[in-house]
Amino acid sequence: MNMPRPGVGEFDLIRRHFQRPAHPQAPGVALGIGDDCALLVPEPGHTLAVSTDMLVEGRHFLAGAEPTHLGHKALAVNLSDLAAMGARPLGFTLALALPEANEHWLAAFAQGLFALADAHACPLVGGDTTRGPLNLCITVFGQLAPGQALRRSAARPDDDIYLSGRTGEARLALALLLQEPWAVQACGAQALEQHPQLQQRLDQPTPRLALGRALAGVAHAAIDVSDGLAADLGHILAASGVGAELDLSALPLAEGLQPLTAARRLQCLLNGGDDYELVFTAAPQHRATVATAAQTSATPVSRIGRITQSPGLRALHPDGSSHSIEAQGFDHFG
Ligand code: ADP
Ligand code: MG
Repeated sequence: MNMPRPGVGEFDLIRRHFQRPAHPQAPGVALGIGDDCALLVPEPGHTLAVSTDMLVEGRHFLAGAEPTHLGHKALAVNLSDLAAMGARPLGFTLALALPEANEHWLAAFAQGLFALADAHACPLVGGDTTRGPLNLCITVFGQLAPGQALRRSAARPDDDIYLSGRTGEARLALALLLQEPWAVQACGAQALEQHPQLQQRLDQPTPRLALGRALAGVAHAAIDVSDGLAADLGHILAASGVGAELDLSALPLAEGLQPLTAARRLQCLLNGGDDYELVFTAAPQHRATVATAAQTSATPVSRIGRITQSPGLRALHPDGSSHSIEAQGFDHFG
């Protein structure tokens, strides 16, 4: 790599901020940081699950974002993908482009990163460091028992559709940060101070790993909501060749969203993005098993709809009317 700045070498930077003693609860790592490759050892017969997500300044987070939160979020969005597959984390790598080697920034970033990594016994096993516009790219490695992956293509007609947690708060927080008039007018200029959980949902999403693992082998299809509930459920529908009815009155509504007009509220709930909740489907005869999975993983889960044979996504209103939903999520090239 290139030296970040004269006197601060890459190896020194890595050693001080990223190299840590072997994690006692991570038996899947035979060799971590420091060699040409890390060596991972999944349990015999298990499948390796791999996912990469990149966070780019100005695209996925605002310039000047708090580094502790960035450390958390960069890993959280990746762990969320393991959760959506039903996998257990083994470890992760971190490719980092930094405009400068800022010690305070790095220490805070590492703090947020490792707090979440430790909570899930998911050690940092390697990476790459270079100078460049701020860019955080993490690859997570996980394992799954054979045949237990929660694939997007596995939804079946008459499956129930479930959502963990609730959607919409991250989108509203972003709108308030950007001072979008519809949000500020409805919620007031102090909304972020009055409802701290709004911004927490944007900055520090909770990857639903325990729920995902409890659902492996039980649920059919699953996906994590990064681009909006409608868009991500739409991916399941497309991959599975099915449609869905969403019961709008079953969608949990955060207190922070209540001042919004009905139309904006619905937009946050369905097309918000950055929620990192799980949407999954399961056969109706597994309702009790799903409830147990929610309970053992201490994760709120709501039944929000039903998979249909006929294609398309329909929203059912409390008054019995329905309308067709465009799955317009966030598209980076749209
Ligand atoms: P190489 O020349 O083989 O690419 P590097 O000099 O880039 O090796 O990295 C040396 C060691 O430090 C490797 O084990 C690599 O995985 C690790 N490493 C580099 N950057 C990071 C980082 N940002 N986080 C964690 N480990 C890193
Ligand atoms: Mg390298």
